[in-house]
Amino acid sequence: MTDVVVEARGVIKNFGTLHVLKGIDLTIRRGEVTCIIGPSGSGKSTFLRCINQLESLDGGYIIVAGEPVGVKLKNGRVEAQSNVESARSRENIGMVFQSFNLFPHMTVLENICEAPIRVKKENRAIVRKRALTLLDRVGLVSKAQTYPAALSGGQQQRVAIARALAMEPRLMLFDEPTSALDPELVGEVLDVMRGLADAGMTMVVVTHEMGFAREVGDHLIFMDEGLVIEHGNPRTVLNSPAHDRTKQFLAKVL
Ligand code: ADP
Ligand code: MG
Repeated sequence: MTDVVVEARGVIKNFGTLHVLKGIDLTIRRGEVTCIIGPSGSGKSTFLRCINQLESLDGGYIIVAGEPVGVKLKNGRVEAQSNVESARSRENIGMVFQSFNLFPHMTVLENICEAPIRVKKENRAIVRKRALTLLDRVGLVSKAQTYPAALSGGQQQRVAIARALAMEPRLMLFDEPTSALDPELVGEVLDVMRGLADAGMTMVVVTHEMGFAREVGDHLIFMDEGLVIEHGNPRTVLNSPAHDRTKQFLAKVL
């Protein structure tokens, strides 16, 4: 039984002539929290989207929970996965975006139950019970029958986290989950994420919250222009960055 949840090697992604990811290597082990920082446009979101199969790769490979992303081996040859196969491996991964993307016409409870019932064909009563447990975990049981429009941004993002967890993923990806929030609502979302980390969830978090990265992160990665420039212990990277580009970036954001 391997402890490696994500193994990315030489990941390349181009959009036409734009070289967005130029060979990303990353290993993530079970229970680890990896934070990714870097300037706008450095490829952070694209990398998360590659892990989650929302983008195809132009080079390299990514293995998530023992399964190659987007490809399969058949008779010793690499072939593209079918849609059904890629949907199945994507069930291992939960993703939370900057914009909460809740279904506006569904209650909070319906939002959380939708994918397990429709995609995984799970039993409705079991899913509902799990959803209520998850709502308790994010502090929103009292909002189960509420529609998203009646919630604050922080509450909507906590529901989005619960919704991702309802699929029982082995890996959670967060893409700037607090960037769209009013400052006073950031803490409640970070608290939920911290609880998740404490409970042993494997997480990759793209964030500008350096305090979170420092306190919760096991690893900190600085990306610039499609490359991992620096990778280390968050305290070390933040306190004494080794590379000039990291220093320049931190001087702007800290
Ligand atoms: P970050 O999340 O670090 O800000 P992104 O991964 O969103 O960076 O974007 C990296 C680069 O790729 C940017 O120059 C962006 O404009 C470009 N890009 C991202 N997605 C697409 C796309 N679907 N088509 C074309 N260019 C894209
Ligand atoms: Mg981004």
